[in-house]
Amino acid sequence: MAIVITDECINCGACEPECPNNAIYEGAEDWRYKDGTQLSGQVVLPDGKEVDAEEDQEPISDETYFIVPDKCTECKGFHDEPQCAAVCPVDCCLPDDDHVETEEYLLTKQRFMHPE
Ligand code: SF4
Ligand code: SF4
Repeated sequence: MAIVITDECINCGACEPECPNNAIYEGAEDWRYKDGTQLSGQVVLPDGKEVDAEEDQEPISDETYFIVPDKCTECKGFHDEPQCAAVCPVDCCLPDDDHVETEEYLLTKQRFMHPE
């Protein structure tokens, strides 16, 4: 499953550079599928959704850092544990019950974003 940042976040920014998928953004920032991935142009995500990887997407939170569920692989394919949760000083990076995914699917997402 993806990881979610709760409203306990103190906006320290420690997690953002640790994410291998560039799935973490500062509050109120636009984000893109292409950021930190090999995606470009029109793409079909592993869940079948069609998106433009270059297009600016609306922030998920205006108040705190946030994680894009489509880009979070729980660090599968890169690390043994979620790096955001490992560095967060207030332990507010938690499993996202709204985005439960199998390990196999998380690895599929990882390979999709980073095919080489
Ligand atoms: S669990 Fe890993 S991939 Fe997901 S947001 Fe945190 S650092 Fe990024
Ligand atoms: S490390 Fe934790 S407190 Fe700091 S910005 Fe990330 S989620 Fe927020």
